[in-house]
Amino acid sequence: MSRSSIIVIGAGLSGLATAYFLKKKRMNVLVLEANTKIGGRIQTIIGNNSATMEMGATWFGRQHPNLLAFLKEIELDYFRQHTQGISLFETMSFVPPQKFEIPDSDEPSYRLAGGTSKLIEKLANYIGLEYIKLDTRIVEITDKGSEVALKDDKGYLYLASQVVITVPPNLAINTIAYVPALPKALTELALSTHTWMGESIKFAVEYASPFWKQKQYSGALFSHVGIITEMYDHSAYDNSSFALMGFLNGSTNVLTKQARQDKVIKQLVQCYGAEAENFVTYHEKVWREDILTFCPYNDLVMAHQNNGDALYQNSFINSKLHFAGSETATENPGYMDGAIVAAQTISSKLK
Ligand SMILES: Cc1cc2nc3c(=O)[nH]c(=O)nc-3n(C[C@H](O)[C@H](O)[C@H](O)COP(=O)(O)OP(=O)(O)OC[C@H]3O[C@@H](n4cnc5c(N)ncnc54)[C@H](O)[C@@H]3O)c2cc1C
Repeated sequence: MSRSSIIVIGAGLSGLATAYFLKKKRMNVLVLEANTKIGGRIQTIIGNNSATMEMGATWFGRQHPNLLAFLKEIELDYFRQHTQGISLFETMSFVPPQKFEIPDSDEPSYRLAGGTSKLIEKLANYIGLEYIKLDTRIVEITDKGSEVALKDDKGYLYLASQVVITVPPNLAINTIAYVPALPKALTELALSTHTWMGESIKFAVEYASPFWKQKQYSGALFSHVGIITEMYDHSAYDNSSFALMGFLNGSTNVLTKQARQDKVIKQLVQCYGAEAENFVTYHEKVWREDILTFCPYNDLVMAHQNNGDALYQNSFINSKLHFAGSETATENPGYMDGAIVAAQTISSKLK
């Protein structure tokens, strides 16, 4: 058994940012993470040619002021998503793709230099890796009067005065037992709270050279036809590595990885030419298969449904248990900006 003043469950952006803000207030905090790595829905893969490829969170913009201010505070650089050149829109299978240009005046979106995982790494270094325990999945939370007891999947017990859950609400209710049970209103709310991007499939293809740019294409592709539904250039900010990255039709989760890869390369060859076949690496992530992110809903739940509901601002089991994942945020819930907002809100509450 171990004892801490505050335990944060989950080492995604919300959990790590919560620990960062609490540590800044000189408070004692331990982060417990079920996975063998940190980051949650932030996952940057490094390819054989060093391309940083995002399987999770990637873009942000001026509509995310809390994240932008936070990046300034922790001194991380970002750059504008490349969109210059000819973009493609496949409307119907029997006609060639429409060509268009994304105007420079469009509201830009940004990516973190070196990959989104830079954000996670920076926070983890500040918190100290000794305060982040991996491979520790919490399965039960029990009210013990002045403390809260947490049981992990190996039966180990942790005691804390305050507990902050940053696991997406639907997953937190479906996979953790609460003794005594949480209020019915909260349980019902969480079961119908959407986990942003939980159903998505992301892919990235790494190349030795940006052949699409050499042919004046932007790398942006939108399709009602092929397996790729949306895609962008994913080269590094300093043009040291090259990739294309985007989303696949969610219903292709039933195919094998090889079948999806074949369809992706075929679509890229059709759009950009035979060079697309000579890729360095192919990566993908079917998020609905990630049991530490996604859990099927009992009923139909729409994108962002119940995100940021006011009930998540309450505390439970006599003010000892708090919810602070991105989906609970009062601003931009579901996004990285929401994760920062949720972390700021809870860390300013805890004493
Ligand atoms: C494909 C995809 C694309 C996205 N694109 C963008 C984007 O472009 N821009 C943007 O702003 N946002 C984007 N997002 C959303 C963004 O990733 C999230 O808002 C943010 O990362 C959520 O952080 P979090 O810490 O709240 O939750 P998570 O990242 O889900 O973290 C929760 C953590 O809890 C852990 N955990 C789960 N159960 C337990 C348990 N029982 N015990 C202990 N630990 C547990 C998990 O392993 C995980 O590490 C995207 C998400 C995905 C999946």
